[in-house]
Parts: sequence; C-alpha cells; structure tokens
Amino acid sequence: FIKAEILAVGTELLMGQIANTNAQHISARLPEVGIGVYYHTVVGDNPSRLKDCLELALKRADVVIMTGGLGPTKDDLTKETIAEFFGRKLVLHQESLQKIEAFFNKLNRTMTENNKKQAFLPEGSLIIENNNGTAPGCIIEDGKKVVIMLPGPPKEMKPMFDETVIGYFSKKASFKIVSRFLRIFGIGESAMEEKIIDLIDGQSNPTIAPYAKDGEVTLRITARCNNGREGEELIKPVIDEIRNRLGDAVYSIDNENLEEVTGKLLIKNNISISFAESCTGGLLSSRITEIPGISAVFSGSMVTYSNEIKAGCLGVSEDTLNTHGAVSSSTAKEMAVNIRKQMNTKLGVSVTGIAGPGGATENKPIGLVYVALADENDVACTELNLWGDRNRIRNNTVLNALDMIRR
Ligand code: ATP
Ligand code: MG
Repeated sequence: FIKAEILAVGTELLMGQIANTNAQHISARLPEVGIGVYYHTVVGDNPSRLKDCLELALKRADVVIMTGGLGPTKDDLTKETIAEFFGRKLVLHQESLQKIEAFFNKLNRTMTENNKKQAFLPEGSLIIENNNGTAPGCIIEDGKKVVIMLPGPPKEMKPMFDETVIGYFSKKASFKIVSRFLRIFGIGESAMEEKIIDLIDGQSNPTIAPYAKDGEVTLRITARCNNGREGEELIKPVIDEIRNRLGDAVYSIDNENLEEVTGKLLIKNNISISFAESCTGGLLSSRITEIPGISAVFSGSMVTYSNEIKAGCLGVSEDTLNTHGAVSSSTAKEMAVNIRKQMNTKLGVSVTGIAGPGGATENKPIGLVYVALADENDVACTELNLWGDRNRIRNNTVLNALDMIRR
C-alpha cells in the first residue's frame, strides 16, 4: 500500500486564518489511485521547521504532497528549501517563464523581477503546468520516494492536482479504491446501524462505514478493485441490500443533498409550493431557492414571526393562538392551510417551534417544533423534538421539512 503525507505550508493555516481545504481535497481523491493518506501536517513559512517536517514525512510516507509557498514573495520558500534538502539546483524552466510572461501580458500588467523566481524549479523534476496562476508545481522523484509541490491557492492547486497529479499516479497504480456515499435522513445513526450491522461486520470488500453530521447520516461504501467497473460490480449489490432494508430513508447516492432531491422532485412533478415560516425565519425558503429552476414551482413564502403577524397577515385565528399557543400543531396546521390558499399553490408547508436558548416553558421545551404540510384535501403535522443549539435546531427543522415534502 502506498502511503502519503500531505504537508501544507503557510503560517496563515497555523494562525487559524484559513482552513486547510487543500489537504481535504487531496485526501478525498488519493484513494482513487490506490494511495492511502496516513498523515496531515501543517507547518509555517519557516525553512528549518519545513525541513524537519519533510525529513519526518519521508521516513513515514512514500509520497509527500506539499501545498503553499510557491509564490513570488519573500515568505514563499518551499521550493528553495526542498531543492536544498535534495541537493538539487534550481534551474530556469523556459516554458514556464514564457507562460508567466504571457499571463502578465494578458492582464496588461508588467512582470516584476521576483515573478521570474517562479520559473526556477528543482533540477530533474517533472513540471506541473499552472493554467490559473503563475506558479508552476513540480514532481521530484528521489529513489522510491516522490515529493510533489503545488501552489497554495485552491483555485490553482485543485486543477493541477486533479489533472496532472492524479494522472501521474493512476499510470502507476496497481489497484484502485472506489467509494460511493449513501445519504440517509429520517432514521437515527444507531437505529440505522442496528438494521445493517450484520452487513457492516460481514463485509471486507467493499467495506461499509457510517458517519453522522448535522443530523444526517452518510454511509460510505468503499471497494478495493482493479478498475472502476469492477468497483461498481462489487458495490452495487451492497447498495441494493442497504436500500432494501432502509427504504426511502436513503434519499440520494453520492452528492445530492436534501434540498436538491426535494427541489428536483417538485420541479419534475410540477408541484407548486409555498412556505409559512416562524422559527426558521426564511431558512427553508433560502435552501429551496438554492436549486436552479425552482421558480417553476416555488411561489414564495411568508416569515410570520410574531403572533400579530401570524394572525394579521396569515389569518391564523386568535382563538387558536390563545388556546394552543404559537408553537402547537393547531397553529402549524392553520399556517400551512392558509399559506397554501393565499399563494394558490398545490402544497403549503409551515414550521413553528422553539429554537432557544430562551422561550421554553414547562410543557414546551427548547427543540419542540411542528412542521405541517397541507394539500387540497388534507393537512398533516409532525411534532419534532430536536436537541442542540439554536443553529442546529433551525437547521434540523429545515431538513425535516424538506424530508416531509420529499416523502
Ligand atoms: P501565492 O502565489 O498566492 O503566494 P503560494 O503557493 O505561495 O501562492 P501561499 O502563499 O502559501 O501559496 O498561499 C496563498 C493563499 O492560498 C493563502 O492565502 C490561502 O488563501 C490559500 N491557501 C494556502 N494554503 C492553503 C491550504 N492548505 N488550504 C486552503 N487554502 C490555502
Ligand atoms: Mg505566497
């Protein structure tokens, strides 16, 4: 198994000014070419500490992928440090120099002397072209070890990695790792695990690994295989079996999130919809309008936060509000029915609840939320008992509403 270490260079990473999304991107893709990521390291713009890190990385990994510090300024020292480490000279790469000159011409800017520095690369390395910036990257092969340098800005790093680095390794790879992701909502992590624990325990290729985040569960199914087709063949029966057991709690495979699945379903079936939101303050509308083309079915929404507006603008009866309160299934149902009528849509959806940290009463705790869905014949309401802080409760309310619409 080829082991990799990702070595991100940049004091701004250590200071917490930016997150190390480069390592995240690289880690997510290396398994495709049969490389396992064993370590992530971050080091500041300091040559001696960088050298220490590289030394350690080369002891415990076969491949070291570095990002950052290839720029023209004084604090960009990655290349110089690495060249010195390997005892290689930095030599002018003519093509890169021309590319940098052309880059500046196109922007109508004059190239400064220190930009030339970027065209100097360690002797004997393979050059990685940069089509979105000035600093080229490079691959140094040193015996059995490989060290790769890429620029820091993700917009430059990603295409260079995706095209050149992945291509470089896929030619060498003896096997591949293929992963698919099942996205699940409406069943807790432990309840789900109970239903498929025998599969999780019994599988070695592919393996099944659950993880929970933001109220959703994702199952990763990973196969070790010789090619993509073989991977699919290994994974498909497992996906089918899991879907059998979990039913429509599995809402998508791979990338589509809940708003995309729900939004596309509404568009496909031409089902018009409107929302009346209280505790989510427009969050549900915001999420659904992330979907391109949703205007074909989404008419609009009303954020009715106070009781006066719930009554005055949405027409929830004073009687309901006084007897049951704003956070009640009766209020939620009236909100859904009324918004549907006012906006003249096929479906009306409402949410009302207590997001905290204040507002709880003895029989209405924080996290108590009602979501109602009305159509021309009926109105259904679900009571949710959510936990967490204000953000989590509001976010989970939106997910539950989207899930209710989808089903
Ligand atoms: P430049 O030519 O822009 O100076 P560089 O290769 O020298 O590029 P750095 O100076 O280390 O790279 O970083 C430039 C910018 O790229 C940072 O300010 C940051 O916005 C982004 N960046 C650097 N490293 C990372 C990383 N590991 N993850 C995400 N973004 C990063
Ligand atoms: Mg820089």
